[in-house]
Amino acid sequence: MNLSKSKLVSGRQCPRRLWLEVHRPDLLEADSGTEQLFAFGHRLNEVARSLEPDGTLIGHGDDPGRALVETRAALAQPGDRTLFEPAFVHEGILVRADILRRRKGRHALVELKASTEPKPHHAFDCAVQAYVIEGSGLQLGEIALAHVNSEFVYPGGGDYRGLLCSTDIGTEARAAVSQVPKLAASLRKVLAGKEPNVRPGPHCEDPYPCPFIEHCEPGDYPVRILPRSAALIERLRAESYRDLRDVPGEAIRSRAAHRVWQATRTGSVLLDPELRATLRSLGYPRHYLDFETIRFVVPIWKGTRPYEQLPFQWSLHIEHRNGRLAHREFLDTSGEPPMEKAAAALLEAVGAEGPVVTYGPFERTVLRALAERYPRLAAPLEQLAARIVDVLPLLRAHYHHPAMKGSWSLKAVLPAVAPELGYAGLGEVADGEAAERAYLEILDPATDAARKAKLAADLRAYCARDTFGLRLLVQKLSG
Ligand code: SF4
Repeated sequence: MNLSKSKLVSGRQCPRRLWLEVHRPDLLEADSGTEQLFAFGHRLNEVARSLEPDGTLIGHGDDPGRALVETRAALAQPGDRTLFEPAFVHEGILVRADILRRRKGRHALVELKASTEPKPHHAFDCAVQAYVIEGSGLQLGEIALAHVNSEFVYPGGGDYRGLLCSTDIGTEARAAVSQVPKLAASLRKVLAGKEPNVRPGPHCEDPYPCPFIEHCEPGDYPVRILPRSAALIERLRAESYRDLRDVPGEAIRSRAAHRVWQATRTGSVLLDPELRATLRSLGYPRHYLDFETIRFVVPIWKGTRPYEQLPFQWSLHIEHRNGRLAHREFLDTSGEPPMEKAAAALLEAVGAEGPVVTYGPFERTVLRALAERYPRLAAPLEQLAARIVDVLPLLRAHYHHPAMKGSWSLKAVLPAVAPELGYAGLGEVADGEAAERAYLEILDPATDAARKAKLAADLRAYCARDTFGLRLLVQKLSG
């Protein structure tokens, strides 16, 4: 069985994960977050190549044999060289390096990461590559990580110099090289056998959330739904508790976790009267606000930074004391920077008084970032941010429904409190990541007008559902 860097990385996290990836890919749960990261990585690779226009792309992602031949041929040529995605194989392990540079006869391996700083597990990624590259006969002088510089501000004009910064991780990578052959041998045995009986534990999240958790820890109420209770969850797992309803209440000390346990065990809703009183005391007109934002690992708008949350859409439901409900919204699909227009339109729509109700701190953060970016709008945006009433901490402290299964995300709360609303039937956009994807597709010049219109309609419906749902939530929990 041939192994690759990604297989070794999976198997190092958990042998069962690797076994499932190879033998039971049907159990993989689609994860839009992973797709997004993949797209970020792809774009970053393009930019890295554009920064070294003399480099040679080996390519042939689906034909490793050809990639190996072309890599050998490229390396046989004399002088300084930069290769993108060169292929190497050693002892049945195939790797594709991101960048291999040769300068004055010395070779440097550069692993490209979309993260903004080196992480401990990156050393092992590089160790696998170093083991294979050096095993195949090429000595490496330097091993480095090229990662995103979060301080980079895009000057425009396609100038991405400074987007990437390099960190030498040769010492850490070389220290991990000896793990590679031992791990490869043990994983080959794992893959040749039956599904390993590895129990879920902290490794299911470290370094990456494992997509097989529902397979390994099935059930409606597994102990892992306890919020912010990593140590307790491990203790309960070690004591062979599988279902939260079987756990004795004395075992759970934290207040939030105890509420989840109590609601789950009794199957009934916990609602403190204080929550009702606080929500009833909100003044009018009430403004229910939600932003949709986009992040680019490679900024496309001048003056913006990598991963900056840039609002392109908002929805605002305005509820008056007499029950009248108005809706205002903003969505910019022009491809121009939408942030200033979004801010100005919101200030015009939201008026000067009444609470601005949000679910979580995100909207306040976005408003403060807009205030910093646009000094002429700073004062009213700060005033708007000061009017925010975030109902999420209130719900955390005073409400739990068994159907929420330990989560207070709006996507978990809304179907529990208002099952008639929920997020079904919303077209292609039913969560924040889908909203980002839809927006990116709208910006893509290859998307035709009809498709753009459909995606824009789905975005509007989704964002409006969030604010309408928030208003319904407050209404229902107010009694
Ligand atoms: S969920 Fe945990 S135990 Fe199961 S395969 Fe993934 S990492 Fe391994």
